[in-house]
Amino acid sequence: MARILLVEDEEKLARFVELELTHEGYRVDKAFDGRAGLEKAEGGGYDLILLDIMLPGLNGLEVLRRLRKTSAVPVIMLTARDAVMDKVNGLDTGADDYVTKPFSIEELLARIRVCLRRHADVDGPEGALAIADLTMDVMRRRVERAGREIELTGREFALLKYFLENKTIVLTREQLLEKVWGYDYLGETNVVDVYVRYLRSKLDEPFDKKLLHTVRGVGYVLREDT
Ligand code: CA
Repeated sequence: MARILLVEDEEKLARFVELELTHEGYRVDKAFDGRAGLEKAEGGGYDLILLDIMLPGLNGLEVLRRLRKTSAVPVIMLTARDAVMDKVNGLDTGADDYVTKPFSIEELLARIRVCLRRHADVDGPEGALAIADLTMDVMRRRVERAGREIELTGREFALLKYFLENKTIVLTREQLLEKVWGYDYLGETNVVDVYVRYLRSKLDEPFDKKLLHTVRGVGYVLREDT
């Protein structure tokens, strides 16, 4: 069964979440501050990390930033209500998802399932994906084009990965939302356009050949120019 590390300084909440996760069959470890959490996370062996942002010692964003230097383990951030900047920063730093406090345990469990499922695909046998001179080493979380490394945020990486897995296939915004963002974002399709723009500025604009094409009225497709 999946091993989850919970980094949360509110001990009552941590105990409650641990109890519920254990009940669902997950194996749970806890850390109550940022430094202890980072140390445990870097020790490895976890399938998923639940990371509170407001933590003593190191805050959650700093823990995530340091952890991402060595690990692609899925991370769900626990954020305070209305802390929009935290969510944006968390996703940019490489969080896979976030849950806003106070959350229902059903919501948390649903996010955990989505996150673990998405990552199970990543850890599949094919470690590398490619099109033209663009390559993605999924396990090492590394993207290169024409031999040059391209730095992507967590969400950009997930979006590009989905494009690569479905190269030459036209994908609708709704499909991309559902597969890359998960059920909870349904309806806000313009977030897809924003992230496609980010990807283009990193993947296409510095190079001669365009790979990410708009299909008017439908969506997007990753393919070599013909
Ligand atoms: Ca806290």
